[in-house]
Amino acid sequence: MSTSNFDPVEVAALQPEALEAATTAALDAFRAASDLDELKAARIAHLGDRAALSLANREIGALPPAAKAAAGKRVGAAKGAVQRAHDARLVELEAARDARVLVEEAVDVTLPTGRQRVGARHPLTSVMELISDVFLTMGWEVAEGPEAESSWYNFDALNTPTEHPSRELTDTFYVGSPDSTVVLRTQTSPVQIRTMLERTPPIYIVCPGKVFRTDELDATHTPVFHQLEGLAVDEGLTMAHLKGTLDHMATSMFGPGILTRLRPHYFPFTEPSAEMDLICFICRGESVGNPDRPCRACGSEGWIEWGGCGMVDPRVLIACGIDPERYSGFAFGMGIERTLMFRNGVSDMRDIVEGDVRFTAAFGIDA
Ligand SMILES: [Zn+2]
Repeated sequence: MSTSNFDPVEVAALQPEALEAATTAALDAFRAASDLDELKAARIAHLGDRAALSLANREIGALPPAAKAAAGKRVGAAKGAVQRAHDARLVELEAARDARVLVEEAVDVTLPTGRQRVGARHPLTSVMELISDVFLTMGWEVAEGPEAESSWYNFDALNTPTEHPSRELTDTFYVGSPDSTVVLRTQTSPVQIRTMLERTPPIYIVCPGKVFRTDELDATHTPVFHQLEGLAVDEGLTMAHLKGTLDHMATSMFGPGILTRLRPHYFPFTEPSAEMDLICFICRGESVGNPDRPCRACGSEGWIEWGGCGMVDPRVLIACGIDPERYSGFAFGMGIERTLMFRNGVSDMRDIVEGDVRFTAAFGIDA
Protein backbone atom coordinates (compact mmCIF):
# COMPACT_ATOMS: atom_id res chain seq x y z
CA MET A 1 0.00 0.00 0.00
CA SER A 2 1.42 3.36 -1.00
CA THR A 3 0.90 6.46 1.15
CA SER A 4 -0.82 8.20 -1.72
CA ASN A 5 -3.91 6.03 -1.60
CA PHE A 6 -3.99 5.63 2.24
CA ASP A 7 -7.24 7.04 3.63
CA PRO A 8 -7.03 7.91 7.34
CA VAL A 9 -10.79 7.68 7.61
CA GLU A 10 -10.42 3.96 7.02
CA VAL A 11 -8.51 3.56 10.34
CA ALA A 12 -11.49 2.64 12.52
CA ALA A 13 -9.91 3.41 15.86
CA LEU A 14 -9.32 7.03 14.89
CA GLN A 15 -12.81 7.80 13.69
CA PRO A 16 -14.64 10.40 15.82
CA GLU A 17 -17.46 7.96 16.61
CA ALA A 18 -15.01 5.38 17.89
CA LEU A 19 -13.20 7.94 20.03
CA GLU A 20 -16.46 9.23 21.43
CA ALA A 21 -17.64 5.73 22.23
CA ALA A 22 -14.37 4.98 23.99
CA THR A 23 -14.62 8.25 25.94
CA THR A 24 -18.23 7.58 26.97
CA ALA A 25 -17.38 4.04 28.06
CA ALA A 26 -14.51 5.39 30.18
CA LEU A 27 -16.60 8.12 31.81
CA ASP A 28 -19.36 5.60 32.57
CA ALA A 29 -16.87 3.17 34.08
CA PHE A 30 -15.32 5.85 36.30
CA ARG A 31 -18.72 7.03 37.45
CA ALA A 32 -19.77 3.47 38.24
CA ALA A 33 -16.64 2.77 40.29
CA SER A 34 -17.78 2.68 43.93
CA ASP A 35 -14.38 2.46 45.61
CA LEU A 36 -10.70 3.04 44.88
CA ASP A 37 -10.10 -0.58 43.81
CA GLU A 38 -12.85 -0.44 41.21
CA LEU A 39 -11.55 2.92 39.98
CA LYS A 40 -8.07 1.47 39.62
CA ALA A 41 -9.44 -1.40 37.50
CA ALA A 42 -11.38 1.09 35.35
CA ARG A 43 -8.27 3.25 34.91
CA ILE A 44 -6.26 0.26 33.63
CA ALA A 45 -9.13 -0.68 31.24
CA HIS A 46 -9.62 2.82 29.84
CA LEU A 47 -6.28 4.59 30.25
CA GLY A 48 -3.86 1.64 30.27
CA ASP A 49 -1.57 0.48 27.47
CA ARG A 50 -4.23 -1.81 26.00
CA ALA A 51 -7.13 0.68 26.27
CA ALA A 52 -8.96 1.78 23.09
CA LEU A 53 -7.62 5.33 23.33
CA SER A 54 -4.04 4.12 23.75
CA LEU A 55 -4.38 1.86 20.73
CA ALA A 56 -5.81 4.80 18.74
CA ASN A 57 -2.87 6.93 19.84
CA ARG A 58 -0.46 4.39 18.44
CA GLU A 59 -2.31 4.38 15.10
CA ILE A 60 -1.44 8.05 14.60
CA GLY A 61 2.17 7.18 13.88
CA ALA A 62 1.09 5.26 10.78
CA LEU A 63 -0.85 8.21 9.28
CA PRO A 64 0.49 10.41 6.51
CA PRO A 65 1.93 13.67 7.89
CA ALA A 66 -1.03 15.71 6.65
CA ALA A 67 -3.53 13.63 8.64
CA LYS A 68 -1.47 13.36 11.83
CA ALA A 69 -2.34 16.79 13.29
CA ALA A 70 -6.12 16.43 13.15
CA ALA A 71 -6.06 12.86 14.42
CA GLY A 72 -3.65 13.80 17.20
CA LYS A 73 -5.87 16.62 18.30
CA ARG A 74 -8.95 14.38 18.46
CA VAL A 75 -7.20 11.64 20.39
CA GLY A 76 -5.53 14.16 22.71
CA ALA A 77 -8.85 15.80 23.51
CA ALA A 78 -10.47 12.41 24.22
CA LYS A 79 -7.61 11.28 26.43
CA GLY A 80 -7.62 14.59 28.28
CA ALA A 81 -11.33 14.34 28.99
CA VAL A 82 -10.98 10.76 30.19
CA GLN A 83 -8.00 11.64 32.44
CA ARG A 84 -9.84 14.57 34.00
CA ALA A 85 -12.89 12.42 34.65
CA HIS A 86 -10.67 9.83 36.31
CA ASP A 87 -8.89 12.40 38.48
CA ALA A 88 -12.16 13.99 39.58
CA ARG A 89 -13.60 10.62 40.57
CA LEU A 90 -10.37 9.75 42.37
CA VAL A 91 -10.69 12.87 44.55
CA GLU A 92 -14.31 11.97 45.35
CA LEU A 93 -13.54 8.37 46.29
CA GLU A 94 -10.51 9.32 48.41
CA ALA A 95 -12.59 11.83 50.31
CA ALA A 96 -15.28 9.18 50.84
CA ARG A 97 -12.68 6.71 52.09
CA ASP A 98 -11.18 9.23 54.51
CA ALA A 99 -14.60 10.08 55.90
CA ARG A 100 -15.41 6.38 56.34
CA VAL A 101 -12.10 5.67 58.10
CA LEU A 102 -12.74 8.51 60.51
CA VAL A 103 -16.08 6.97 61.45
CA GLU A 104 -15.04 3.31 61.45
CA GLU A 105 -11.77 3.80 63.31
CA ALA A 106 -12.99 6.40 65.77
CA VAL A 107 -12.03 5.56 69.35
CA ASP A 108 -14.79 5.56 71.91
CA VAL A 109 -12.90 6.69 74.98
CA THR A 110 -15.87 5.83 77.18
CA LEU A 111 -15.72 2.09 76.39
CA PRO A 112 -14.52 -0.18 79.21
CA THR A 113 -11.03 -1.46 78.44
CA GLY A 114 -9.22 -4.73 78.88
CA ARG A 115 -6.00 -2.90 79.58
CA GLN A 116 -3.36 -4.73 81.61
CA ARG A 117 -2.59 -3.06 84.89
CA VAL A 118 0.88 -1.62 85.05
CA GLY A 119 2.94 -3.07 87.89
CA ALA A 120 5.14 -1.14 90.24
CA ARG A 121 8.57 -1.66 91.71
CA HIS A 122 8.70 -2.83 95.28
CA PRO A 123 9.26 0.20 97.50
CA LEU A 124 12.14 -1.58 99.31
CA THR A 125 14.02 -1.67 96.02
CA SER A 126 13.22 1.97 95.35
CA VAL A 127 14.36 3.13 98.81
CA MET A 128 17.61 1.14 98.55
CA GLU A 129 18.32 2.64 95.14
CA LEU A 130 17.43 6.12 96.35
CA ILE A 131 19.94 5.93 99.22
CA SER A 132 22.55 4.30 96.96
CA ASP A 133 22.11 7.12 94.45
CA VAL A 134 22.82 9.72 97.15
CA PHE A 135 26.22 8.08 97.63
CA LEU A 136 26.91 7.34 93.97
CA THR A 137 26.62 11.06 93.24
CA MET A 138 29.37 11.62 95.84
CA GLY A 139 31.63 9.13 94.05
CA TRP A 140 31.02 6.16 96.34
CA GLU A 141 30.57 2.64 94.94
CA VAL A 142 27.91 0.00 95.52
CA ALA A 143 29.37 -3.30 96.79
CA GLU A 144 27.61 -6.66 97.08
CA GLY A 145 28.41 -9.99 98.70
CA PRO A 146 26.98 -13.48 99.26
CA GLU A 147 23.87 -13.99 101.41
CA ALA A 148 25.14 -17.40 102.62
CA GLU A 149 28.28 -16.24 104.35
CA SER A 150 31.21 -17.72 106.25
CA SER A 151 30.79 -17.15 110.00
CA TRP A 152 34.33 -15.70 109.99
CA TYR A 153 33.22 -12.83 107.76
CA ASN A 154 29.90 -12.44 109.55
CA PHE A 155 31.23 -12.53 113.16
CA ASP A 156 34.97 -13.04 113.75
CA ALA A 157 36.28 -10.43 111.36
CA LEU A 158 33.75 -7.99 112.80
CA ASN A 159 35.20 -8.39 116.28
CA THR A 160 32.22 -10.43 117.55
CA PRO A 161 33.40 -12.73 120.40
CA THR A 162 32.72 -16.46 120.10
CA GLU A 163 30.36 -16.33 123.07
CA HIS A 164 28.41 -13.31 121.76
CA PRO A 165 24.64 -13.94 122.01
CA SER A 166 24.07 -12.90 118.38
CA ARG A 167 25.79 -16.16 117.36
CA GLU A 168 23.16 -18.27 119.14
CA LEU A 169 20.76 -20.43 117.14
CA THR A 170 18.01 -18.24 118.56
CA ASP A 171 19.40 -15.35 116.52
CA THR A 172 21.25 -16.78 113.55
CA PHE A 173 20.31 -19.21 110.77
CA TYR A 174 23.09 -21.78 110.33
CA VAL A 175 23.30 -23.48 106.91
CA GLY A 176 23.35 -27.23 107.57
CA SER A 177 24.22 -28.34 111.11
CA PRO A 178 24.49 -26.00 114.15
CA ASP A 179 28.26 -26.61 113.98
CA SER A 180 28.34 -25.26 110.45
CA THR A 181 30.65 -22.38 109.68
CA VAL A 182 28.23 -21.07 107.05
CA VAL A 183 25.42 -18.76 108.13
CA LEU A 184 22.80 -16.69 106.40
CA ARG A 185 24.39 -13.29 106.94
CA THR A 186 22.86 -11.41 109.88
CA GLN A 187 24.10 -8.05 108.59
CA THR A 188 25.58 -6.60 105.41
CA SER A 189 28.84 -5.83 107.27
CA PRO A 190 30.66 -8.92 105.85
CA VAL A 191 30.63 -7.06 102.52
CA GLN A 192 32.72 -4.36 104.19
CA ILE A 193 35.23 -6.98 105.39
CA ARG A 194 35.44 -8.56 101.93
CA THR A 195 36.03 -5.15 100.36
CA MET A 196 38.73 -4.17 102.87
CA LEU A 197 40.51 -7.49 102.29
CA GLU A 198 40.41 -7.14 98.52
CA ARG A 199 41.16 -3.45 98.18
CA THR A 200 43.55 -0.89 99.51
CA PRO A 201 42.25 2.44 100.82
CA PRO A 202 40.79 4.85 99.99
CA ILE A 203 37.51 2.88 100.18
CA TYR A 204 34.07 4.46 99.91
CA ILE A 205 31.27 1.89 99.53
CA VAL A 206 27.61 1.33 100.34
CA CYS A 207 26.28 -2.23 100.66
CA PRO A 208 22.54 -2.69 100.25
CA GLY A 209 21.02 -6.15 100.58
CA LYS A 210 19.04 -8.88 102.36
CA VAL A 211 19.95 -10.08 105.85
CA PHE A 212 18.49 -12.89 107.96
CA ARG A 213 17.66 -13.40 111.65
CA THR A 214 15.50 -15.96 113.37
CA ASP A 215 12.62 -13.59 114.12
CA GLU A 216 8.98 -14.57 113.74
CA LEU A 217 7.05 -12.53 111.21
CA ASP A 218 4.85 -10.00 112.98
CA ALA A 219 3.95 -6.32 112.67
CA THR A 220 7.47 -5.15 113.52
CA HIS A 221 9.73 -8.16 112.76
CA THR A 222 10.54 -10.32 109.77
CA PRO A 223 13.16 -13.09 109.43
CA VAL A 224 14.34 -11.64 106.11
CA PHE A 225 14.89 -7.94 105.91
CA HIS A 226 17.11 -5.37 104.20
CA GLN A 227 19.95 -3.18 105.33
CA LEU A 228 22.11 -0.58 103.78
CA GLU A 229 25.54 -0.06 105.26
CA GLY A 230 28.24 2.38 104.32
CA LEU A 231 31.99 2.23 104.88
CA ALA A 232 34.69 4.81 104.32
CA VAL A 233 38.39 4.12 104.95
CA ASP A 234 40.93 6.80 104.15
CA GLU A 235 43.64 8.89 105.73
CA GLY A 236 42.47 11.38 108.31
CA LEU A 237 38.79 10.43 108.55
CA THR A 238 37.12 11.55 111.78
CA MET A 239 33.66 11.48 113.33
CA ALA A 240 33.12 14.93 111.83
CA HIS A 241 33.23 13.29 108.36
CA LEU A 242 30.80 10.63 109.58
CA LYS A 243 28.38 13.23 110.94
CA GLY A 244 28.57 15.32 107.77
CA THR A 245 27.93 12.26 105.61
CA LEU A 246 24.90 11.22 107.70
CA ASP A 247 23.45 14.75 107.61
CA HIS A 248 23.85 14.88 103.84
CA MET A 249 22.10 11.50 103.51
CA ALA A 250 19.25 12.60 105.81
CA THR A 251 18.74 15.87 103.93
CA SER A 252 18.80 14.08 100.56
CA MET A 253 16.23 11.53 101.73
CA PHE A 254 13.88 13.66 103.81
CA GLY A 255 14.37 17.28 102.79
CA PRO A 256 16.24 20.43 103.77
CA GLY A 257 16.90 20.91 107.47
CA ILE A 258 16.47 17.22 108.36
CA LEU A 259 19.67 16.42 110.25
CA THR A 260 20.91 13.59 112.45
CA ARG A 261 22.11 13.35 116.02
CA LEU A 262 24.36 10.71 117.53
CA ARG A 263 23.88 9.00 120.92
CA PRO A 264 26.69 6.91 122.46
CA HIS A 265 26.17 3.19 121.99
CA TYR A 266 28.14 -0.04 121.59
CA PHE A 267 28.76 -2.14 118.49
CA PRO A 268 31.52 -4.77 118.33
CA PHE A 269 33.15 -3.46 115.16
CA THR A 270 33.12 0.29 115.77
CA GLU A 271 34.77 2.37 118.48
CA PRO A 272 33.42 4.80 119.41
CA SER A 273 29.90 3.72 118.37
CA ALA A 274 26.68 5.69 118.24
CA GLU A 275 23.04 5.29 117.53
CA MET A 276 21.80 7.67 114.87
CA ASP A 277 18.55 9.61 115.21
CA LEU A 278 16.84 11.69 112.59
CA ILE A 279 15.03 14.92 113.45
CA CYS A 280 11.32 14.17 112.84
CA PHE A 281 10.64 15.15 109.25
CA ILE A 282 6.92 15.61 110.00
CA CYS A 283 6.86 17.85 113.10
CA ARG A 284 10.55 18.84 113.09
CA GLY A 285 10.54 18.54 116.86
CA GLU A 286 7.66 20.92 117.46
CA SER A 287 5.46 18.18 118.96
CA VAL A 288 7.79 17.81 121.95
CA GLY A 289 6.02 19.06 125.09
CA ASN A 290 3.17 20.30 122.94
CA PRO A 291 0.09 18.09 123.62
CA ASP A 292 -1.98 20.20 121.22
CA ARG A 293 0.18 19.03 118.32
CA PRO A 294 0.90 15.33 118.81
CA CYS A 295 3.01 13.66 116.10
CA ARG A 296 2.49 10.01 115.14
CA ALA A 297 5.70 9.74 113.11
CA CYS A 298 7.99 10.32 116.11
CA GLY A 299 5.55 9.63 118.98
CA SER A 300 6.00 13.31 119.92
CA GLU A 301 9.65 12.58 120.72
CA GLY A 302 10.97 14.96 118.07
CA TRP A 303 13.56 12.42 116.91
CA ILE A 304 13.28 9.09 115.06
CA GLU A 305 15.79 6.31 115.63
CA TRP A 306 17.23 5.46 112.23
CA GLY A 307 20.40 3.36 112.51
CA GLY A 308 23.83 2.81 113.99
CA CYS A 309 27.28 4.11 113.17
CA GLY A 310 30.78 4.66 114.47
CA MET A 311 34.48 4.75 113.72
CA VAL A 312 35.78 1.41 112.47
CA ASP A 313 37.50 -0.40 115.38
CA PRO A 314 41.29 -0.50 114.74
CA ARG A 315 41.18 -4.25 115.44
CA VAL A 316 38.81 -4.69 112.46
CA LEU A 317 41.22 -2.72 110.28
CA ILE A 318 44.12 -4.92 111.43
CA ALA A 319 42.10 -8.10 110.71
CA CYS A 320 41.68 -6.79 107.17
CA GLY A 321 45.35 -5.95 106.70
CA ILE A 322 44.92 -2.18 106.92
CA ASP A 323 47.38 -0.13 108.99
CA PRO A 324 45.33 1.69 111.67
CA GLU A 325 48.25 4.08 112.26
CA ARG A 326 47.84 5.42 108.76
CA TYR A 327 44.15 4.90 108.01
CA SER A 328 40.90 5.42 109.88
CA GLY A 329 37.36 4.65 108.82
CA PHE A 330 33.74 5.16 109.65
CA ALA A 331 30.72 2.96 109.07
CA PHE A 332 26.98 3.28 109.36
CA GLY A 333 23.90 1.24 108.63
CA MET A 334 20.16 1.33 108.76
CA GLY A 335 17.20 -0.97 108.16
CA ILE A 336 15.43 -0.36 104.88
CA GLU A 337 12.07 -1.72 106.10
CA ARG A 338 12.21 0.65 109.06
CA THR A 339 13.12 3.55 106.77
CA LEU A 340 10.19 2.69 104.53
CA MET A 341 7.84 2.38 107.52
CA PHE A 342 8.44 5.80 108.97
CA ARG A 343 9.09 7.52 105.65
CA ASN A 344 5.87 6.33 104.04
CA GLY A 345 3.67 5.63 107.06
CA VAL A 346 3.64 1.83 106.67
CA SER A 347 2.51 0.49 110.03
CA ASP A 348 2.73 -3.29 109.54
CA MET A 349 5.88 -5.12 108.42
CA ARG A 350 3.74 -7.91 106.96
CA ASP A 351 2.40 -5.57 104.27
CA ILE A 352 5.97 -5.14 103.03
CA VAL A 353 6.77 -8.86 102.73
CA GLU A 354 3.48 -10.45 101.66
CA GLY A 355 3.79 -9.37 98.04
CA ASP A 356 0.21 -8.10 97.61
CA VAL A 357 0.34 -6.07 94.41
CA ARG A 358 -2.19 -3.62 95.86
CA PHE A 359 0.42 -2.57 98.42
CA THR A 360 3.18 -2.15 95.87
CA ALA A 361 0.97 -0.41 93.33
CA ALA A 362 0.17 2.33 95.83
CA PHE A 363 3.80 3.45 95.54
CA GLY A 364 3.64 3.59 91.73
CA ILE A 365 7.08 4.21 90.34
CA ASP A 366 7.85 6.72 93.05
CA ALA A 367 11.04 6.27 94.97
ZN1 LIG B 1 7.29 14.18 114.80
